[in-house]
Amino acid sequence: MNRRTFLTWAATGVASAAVAPSSAWPGVSRRVPDDPYGCLVDLTRCVGCRKCEQACNTVNNLPAPSVPFDDMLVFDSQRRPTPQSFTVVNRYHTGKVDDRNRLVPTYVKVQCMHCQDPACVSACIVGALTKRDNGAVHYDESKCIGCRYCMIACPFQIPQYEYNDPITPRVRKCTFCFERISQPGGVPGCAAICPVEAITFGKRNVLLALAAQRIEAEPARYIPHIYGASEVGGTSWLYISGEPFEKLGFLTLPHRPIPQTTESIQHGIFAYFWAPLTLYGLLGAIMYGTHRRQKQEQQTSEDKGDGP
Ligand code: SF4
Ligand code: SF4
Ligand code: SF4
Repeated sequence: MNRRTFLTWAATGVASAAVAPSSAWPGVSRRVPDDPYGCLVDLTRCVGCRKCEQACNTVNNLPAPSVPFDDMLVFDSQRRPTPQSFTVVNRYHTGKVDDRNRLVPTYVKVQCMHCQDPACVSACIVGALTKRDNGAVHYDESKCIGCRYCMIACPFQIPQYEYNDPITPRVRKCTFCFERISQPGGVPGCAAICPVEAITFGKRNVLLALAAQRIEAEPARYIPHIYGASEVGGTSWLYISGEPFEKLGFLTLPHRPIPQTTESIQHGIFAYFWAPLTLYGLLGAIMYGTHRRQKQEQQTSEDKGDGP
């Protein structure tokens, strides 16, 4: 079912059992891939060059940013991924100084973590988000109905919505370069370009061993924590650091998969408040109304001659 079909279907009340069951429903089990790929980000290596941001924009055909990739003034404020930039690098000062008493920065690359048991997948009621064998949490825009449950569910607040696109808004996030890593020898754009090998792509199990090895070999360089090894049940993106993660914008999250929480909330809503089809109908009516209002506004604007 695509967005257009859903709008017609829900707004006219012709609800049927045509929606495929998804992991949001009781009794449907999820499957964590046995041997997914991952990326290990070594924050002690990152020099904040933003080449990964640039590569991400190129491989995903994203628009040029408002601030050029070689402008380091962007580090003056903290940024989050947007529909036009699937990854951003932020700078932190934790109080550490070098031998000349200058503050030492730590740069942190932010993107979808590609959780092992993703809350976004669990929350998506039409299966537009799926966890793939290669580790990617894949988004199928043809299935998305724009309910944005994934945005609410994600513990890392990653999925972004194209609010500015009145016709076919999509949920946007790092794709883990799904097409590239599906090819033999394929590497994500950001990992391929990093000039200091701060990002290592490979099998998640191998990366976990590599991270442990680096921490063990240089205990003064690293704190003894691999972020993503077990947070929210584990993520495909892993981080090691010389500074405590909570000082670098990382959330302290439970080590159990988040879907256990989100699903119990959803089931509670469905069991005691809204029947699912009522909820679909309501969501559809809201979306239909919003869509129609946007079209009217666009038409009025064109009638007034404001248009292109
Ligand atoms: S970080 Fe958020 S959007 Fe990415 S897989 Fe995890 S829950 Fe989904
Ligand atoms: S994996 Fe691909 S989509 Fe994700 S941040 Fe890297 S380049 Fe961008
Ligand atoms: S390309 Fe590598 S060194 Fe440069 S900002 Fe990205 S992760 Fe850091």
